[in-house]
Amino acid sequence: MKGTVFNIQRFCLHDGPGIRTAVFFKGCPLHCAWCHNPESQLSRAEIFYKPDSCLKCGACVQACPKGLHAVSGPVHTYDRTLCEACGACASVCPAGALELCGRRMEADEVLLSVLRDKDFYSSSGGGLTLTGGEPMAQPGFALELAQKAHEAGIHVCVETCGYCAAKDLAGIVPYTDLFLYDFKLADGEAHKRWTGADNRLIMQNLSLLSRAGADIVLRCPIIPGVNDTRGHMEDIARTAHLNPGIRQIDLEPYHPLGIEKCLRLGREAGYDKTDFLSPAQLEPHARWLKDRTGLPINVA
Ligand code: SF4
Ligand code: SF4
Repeated sequence: MKGTVFNIQRFCLHDGPGIRTAVFFKGCPLHCAWCHNPESQLSRAEIFYKPDSCLKCGACVQACPKGLHAVSGPVHTYDRTLCEACGACASVCPAGALELCGRRMEADEVLLSVLRDKDFYSSSGGGLTLTGGEPMAQPGFALELAQKAHEAGIHVCVETCGYCAAKDLAGIVPYTDLFLYDFKLADGEAHKRWTGADNRLIMQNLSLLSRAGADIVLRCPIIPGVNDTRGHMEDIARTAHLNPGIRQIDLEPYHPLGIEKCLRLGREAGYDKTDFLSPAQLEPHARWLKDRTGLPINVA
């Protein structure tokens, strides 16, 4: 089966235990305002454009079959409204100013790339992580990849926002060693405001995984002015208490790298704070959560 992937990153250290290969699925049903991978949100391919890298060489002008690029003196323009993301311009750009984001791949092709580092997985306790975007937004592709990796003896993590069909999530449980499950806000209205969707389905699916005996790391992005409060820590602790499959809680400090990526995609960021939140700033929350839940708390 084919799916749309926008990156396959080797030697990842923050997407589950050990050394891992992270496969980034394109497309997500949520649109979190602070998303640090905005290129993951649309399910179709698109072009990243970095104006600062452009040499005004005009190669893209010649390559585009739709005439969407123009260079006039020191100015390069690109009309993305009619772009079909064929990638012809990106393939000739000598400066890396244009980059095709998203391509269709067979699960077997992805797996071949994952298997290259099998020795590293064995020695480090690592493996494959399906992430994105939302892997469960391409359920057949995710299932085939997880199943084949599992059969090849590779540890499989699925990172999910949980906004997906319950039957798809249940179907991938037997081939998944660890779920990295996002938890953003407990209040449904606030969740809808900041991510574009209510959180009922997400909480139901979390409960489904826990009852199915899955191992879960609860991943909590901490966003200033949105959920960096003691009240939210209480919601996290309550969620962990209600779902005994949760083995660890990760607090992920906000970083603003998505803002620049939005500009490269021709979009406006939904959350524009440019200050990084440091891990040290989350330590008081981490200590409180550890005392309250008894679970390992990871800040990274
Ligand atoms: S991706 Fe294809 S259609 Fe879009 S600007 Fe480049 S060459 Fe033109
Ligand atoms: S091919 Fe690349 S470097 Fe040359 S004009 Fe187009 S975007 Fe700029």
